Amino acid sequence: MTDITFTTLGVAEPILRALAAENYTVPTPIQAKAVPALLAGRDLLGIAQTGTGKTAAFGIPLLQKLSIGHVPPKPREAKSLILAPTRELAVQIEQSLRTYGRFLNLKMAVILGGVSQNSQINATKQGVDILVATPGRLLDLVNQRHIKLDTVSTFIVDEADRMLDMGFIRDVRKIVAMLPRQRQSMLFSATMPDDVVKLVGDMLNQPERIEVAPQGRTADRVSQKLYYVPAMQKRQLLIELLKDAGMNRVIVFTRTKHGANKVAEHLLKNGVQSDAIHGNKSQNARQRALDSFKGGKLRVLVATDIAARGIDVDDVSHVVNFELPNEPESYVHRIGRTARAGAGGAAISFCDSSERAYLRDIERLTRLKIEEVAHDLPPLTEAQKSAAEEPRRPQGHRHGKPGGHNHAPKKNGSRPHWHRDRDKKRGAAA
Ligand code: AMP
Repeated sequence: MTDITFTTLGVAEPILRALAAENYTVPTPIQAKAVPALLAGRDLLGIAQTGTGKTAAFGIPLLQKLSIGHVPPKPREAKSLILAPTRELAVQIEQSLRTYGRFLNLKMAVILGGVSQNSQINATKQGVDILVATPGRLLDLVNQRHIKLDTVSTFIVDEADRMLDMGFIRDVRKIVAMLPRQRQSMLFSATMPDDVVKLVGDMLNQPERIEVAPQGRTADRVSQKLYYVPAMQKRQLLIELLKDAGMNRVIVFTRTKHGANKVAEHLLKNGVQSDAIHGNKSQNARQRALDSFKGGKLRVLVATDIAARGIDVDDVSHVVNFELPNEPESYVHRIGRTARAGAGGAAISFCDSSERAYLRDIERLTRLKIEEVAHDLPPLTEAQKSAAEEPRRPQGHRHGKPGGHNHAPKKNGSRPHWHRDRDKKRGAAA
């Protein structure tokens, strides 16, 4: 194990040079297993999440295969195809492949939704060696005959479980049906829901199966802390914590797009360089924010789970769960944004009284009790307490039906009309 290097794995010289320039000295476990199997032409099922080095695990053999006896692609042809569920992940995969393949003369292009298709049509007109794409836009361009898939010799599906979550699995199946039967295929997924198992059966041929960092264990290298804090004091606590200069590259997670905007605005108002990324922002705005964050111009990136999925930024010092996710798996994905490729990292979670059930689910999944830390914010005043609690009062209270469902605070922040009179009296008393 200790003697494994990229050289002993059979990686060719121009790629070795590029990896050395990136300071990749030791292959990660998935790379050590996947590279020889893929160089030998096997299909691969990789059960692994982002952060394990899986992009290089499939990227290095792909680049090597394409560069040996390289014949330039014909117009509109793609020699290999990588499907990714999100635009950010697609861009990132292409960037990584350009890095690892910088001493090779291969043509690459990215195809994704949400931006004009003209530049994508131009980029693929003369054919490409590697095409990275999100499924919907790729199908559009294939149906318009701008791209041909009948010469794809290597096919990779990344984050197959996310494809499923995002409703892309049918598009993926349609694409599989357009590919030549003779090909090498790989599928990567962090989890294996039934539909992904079925896809594996349909698209892989006697695959080598490699599983790394089983679900729930990503957490091992991340120091995790928990603050019990009322929802209305979370922003204040975040500003307090950011006084620590050690929090130099921070991703803050919120559950909603609106929440992400509000937190980013609050940070900016308090002099912390930050921006939000979420599905309501244009692809260009998201990429700009991500690039500024990667380049160190933004100290804090505020993100929703979907937008952040697959984002790969080195040296994220802290992940802050401003709101706990309602799916415990998302917690594991979130904190996996820090502690990349063997490094340590820190995750800080805020939990208000409405989120305790989420916390229980997370602790059950990770089989870990998160260490609680006390904050030293002033206690809430009585008026703040009642303002914080009352909007969550069960609706049944008003109708005399105990156990009615909770209603969310009103969007404009105003209090339900049936409380207003009482508020006035309280205000007068205070
Ligand atoms: P991935 O799982 O492909 O998103 O990769 C996670 C991170 O690990 C990326 O930032 C890569 O640049 C980095 N990485 C991948 N392989 C290695 C390696 N062998 N040595 C050091 N860093 C690596």
